[in-house]
Amino acid sequence: MIRSWARAGAVVGSLRSAFEAVMFPWSCVLCGVDGAPGAFCPGCLDALWDRAVKAGASVCPRCALPAGPHANFRRGCGVCRGRPLGFDAAVALGPYEGTLRELCLRLKHRRNAWLAPPLCDLWAGTRLDAIDRMALPTDAWVVPVPLHWRRHYGRGYNQAEALARELARRLDRSFHAPLRRVIHAPKLATLSAPARARVLREAFRARESSAIRGRTVLLVDDVLTTGATCGAAARALKRAGAKKVVVAVMARTDRAWT
Ligand SMILES: [Zn+2]
Ligand SMILES: [Zn+2]
Repeated sequence: MIRSWARAGAVVGSLRSAFEAVMFPWSCVLCGVDGAPGAFCPGCLDALWDRAVKAGASVCPRCALPAGPHANFRRGCGVCRGRPLGFDAAVALGPYEGTLRELCLRLKHRRNAWLAPPLCDLWAGTRLDAIDRMALPTDAWVVPVPLHWRRHYGRGYNQAEALARELARRLDRSFHAPLRRVIHAPKLATLSAPARARVLREAFRARESSAIRGRTVLLVDDVLTTGATCGAAARALKRAGAKKVVVAVMARTDRAWT
């Protein structure tokens, strides 16, 4: 019941956003200049695109941490090599700083859900090499990292789901939501890495396990921090039979397992 109310609220919210978008002319969300053709003015879009391309130039394909131009990425980078992550690869649009951080923070609010399509345009447009490397089979699933229903209800929507739906469309793969978050851990960010891993170990369950068997999954979230949340979600998918899990996020913090 509560969940259907949350869904009804989300529908009303998105109708209102659509109405506002029609009624008011676009202005760039970053610099505020009027008459932007979409979320960003051409100048801000160019800057975002350039930064995303540069950020993708030398990052670890396994954990998405930036590394020097001559880094050796065999079986990961110097930070993640030999460390079990739960997922097989990770691709981020860029580091969690500056405008990308600001956009991720805005996306947490349902009224800014409309930022998911332009962010996913950037991700899909600037990560062509990474998408090639993933070699996603045509029957791969695009799956969001879920919120616990209490947080979902409080926030009115899940930004990871908005991103996953958009990425699925751009990659021509199907969207599925087989994961459930069964443990509500609101203060996760304040915990140490081992405590966080302990709390998260049983935090996710996967439904429809027979359909997941043998599947490649693109697991989507907004921000990859220590990798513990995506790792726990990926492990739940693998317990349910997923063959390979690749993480797609908008931003990556440099807080690597510390
Ligand atoms: Zn602008
Ligand atoms: Zn790495």
